[in-house]
Amino acid sequence: AARTRDDLRCPVVVIMGHVDTGKTKLLDKIRKTNVQEGEAGGITQQIGATYFEKKTLLAQTARLNETEKFDLTLPGMLVIDTPGHESFTNLRSRGSSLCDVAILVVDLMHGLEQQTIESLHMLRNRGTPFVVALNKVDRCYDWKTCKDSPIRDALKVQPEGTMQEFRSRASDAKLQLQEQGVNSNIYWEMGEDDWENSDFVPLVPTSAITGEGVQDILLLLCQISQRKLWRRLMWCANLQCTVLEVKAIDGLGMTVDLLVVNGYLREGDKAVFCTLDGPIVTEIRGLLTPPPSREMRIKSEYIHHKEIKGALGVKVIGNGLEKVMAGTPVLVVGPDDEVEDIKAEVMSDLTKLQEKLSTDKKGVMVQASTLGALEALLQFLREDTKPPIPVSAIGIGTIHKRDVTKISIMNEKGCPEYATILAFDVPVPREAREHAEEVNVRIFTADIIYHLFDQFTRFMEELTA
Ligand code: GDP
Ligand code: MG
Repeated sequence: AARTRDDLRCPVVVIMGHVDTGKTKLLDKIRKTNVQEGEAGGITQQIGATYFEKKTLLAQTARLNETEKFDLTLPGMLVIDTPGHESFTNLRSRGSSLCDVAILVVDLMHGLEQQTIESLHMLRNRGTPFVVALNKVDRCYDWKTCKDSPIRDALKVQPEGTMQEFRSRASDAKLQLQEQGVNSNIYWEMGEDDWENSDFVPLVPTSAITGEGVQDILLLLCQISQRKLWRRLMWCANLQCTVLEVKAIDGLGMTVDLLVVNGYLREGDKAVFCTLDGPIVTEIRGLLTPPPSREMRIKSEYIHHKEIKGALGVKVIGNGLEKVMAGTPVLVVGPDDEVEDIKAEVMSDLTKLQEKLSTDKKGVMVQASTLGALEALLQFLREDTKPPIPVSAIGIGTIHKRDVTKISIMNEKGCPEYATILAFDVPVPREAREHAEEVNVRIFTADIIYHLFDQFTRFMEELTA
C-alpha cells in the first residue's frame, strides 16, 4: 500500500535532561504510575519504552483540546525514558536516529545544567526537533495547585507574586537557551514565524507532581508530529528495528528488547541479529509487550502477540540471543531475500567499525553499552585526541574475564600502556576487576566520553613523564 499522510505510525519520543529534573516523574504522571519511587535512589537504570494508545492521549489532553480542537490522528505515542547518559540518542538504524522528537526537561528552579546542555547539543547535531519542559513550576512561591489542568488555566489563578517569580525564572531559562544558540519562547506566545522556523523551540511550564501543563506538552508533541513530522512518520512495511537491551528473564531465558520503528514483526519470522562473533539467524518464538501505558522494565503481566506493527517496543524470545548487541539493527528474511545479503546488511555497521581498528594489532580495548556509543567513542579517539589513541579490540556490554585476558597480551607485545580497557557505560563485575589486577590490565570507566579520555590522557602523561 502507498504511504500516506493518513496512515502515520506512532512517533518515538525521548525524554532527556539533567539528573533530577523530573524526567521519570513526568512520564509517571502521564502513565499514572510510580516508577520513580521504585527506582534505586530514584535514578533510572535502564531504558524503558512506554506505549500510549490513542485513547490515552485523547483522554489526557481532553480539557485542553476543548479550546484547541486539534484533530488527533496519530495511532499513539511511544515514549522512551533515558538514563542520564548518551546511549539512547546513539541508538541508530541505518544512519538515522530512531527518535523522532524529544522532550528536554529543565528544572525551572535550577535553569540549564550540564547534562541539559549536552542533551541540547546532541539533539541539535542530530536535527531532532524538541520541546523544553520548564518543570517543577509548582515550586514557585505560593503556587496554587490546579491538579492536571492546562497550564494557562493554572497561571490565571496564581497570585501576582507567584506570577512574577514564574516570569522571571522563565525568562532566565530563555536567556540561558539563547546563550547556547537556541531561540525559544513560551509556546502560546510564539508568533506564526516562530512556528515556521524549525530551529525555534517551544517552552512548556509543567509540574510532574501536580500535573499542570502535562496536557499541554502531550498535545504539543502530537501537533508537532502531525504537522511537521508527517513525512517521516508515514508508516511503511519495511522493517526498521533496533536492539534496545539484551537480558535474561526468569522463565523465559535470554530475551532481547527491540524498538520496532516501522514495519511488522511476526511470530515464526526468521530474524537476523548482529553479534561480535558474526550474524545469527533465529526464529522468533515469542513476541511480548507490557500492557499499554506500562513499560518493559516493569514486571507486569506480558501480553503475547502473533504480530507487532511499528512503532512499538517488544520483548522477543528466541534461541541463541545471548551475544546480540544493543544498538544493532534487526532484519527479517523475507521469501525473496538471500540470507547472505541480509546477514551482510545486519553486520555492516559493525564490520565498518572493525575495519578501522589498528592494523598492527597494537592498541587499547574499547567497550561500550551500544553499537552507537561505540561508534561515537571510536570516532572520538580517532579524530579528537592528539595523537589519536589506537584501538585493537572492541566489545559491547559487560566486561568479562576473557576480555581482560585478551587485552593483557599488550604487555607481552611490549606496549603495556595499551593493556587498557576504556569502558563506557558498561558493568565491570568484580571477577573482571580482580583478574585485571592479576594480569596488569587497567580498566577506566565513565559515563561521559570525555571523562574517559581525560583519565587515559592523564595516565599516558604519567607514563611518559
Ligand atoms: P529524573 O532523574 O530526571 O528522572 O528525575 P525524577 O523524576 O527522578 O525526579 C527527581 C526528584 O524531583 C524527585 O524527588 C521528584 O519527586 C522531584 N520532582 C520531579 N518533578 C517535580 C515537579 O514537577 N515538582 C516538584 N515539586 N518536584 C518534582
Ligand atoms: Mg529518571
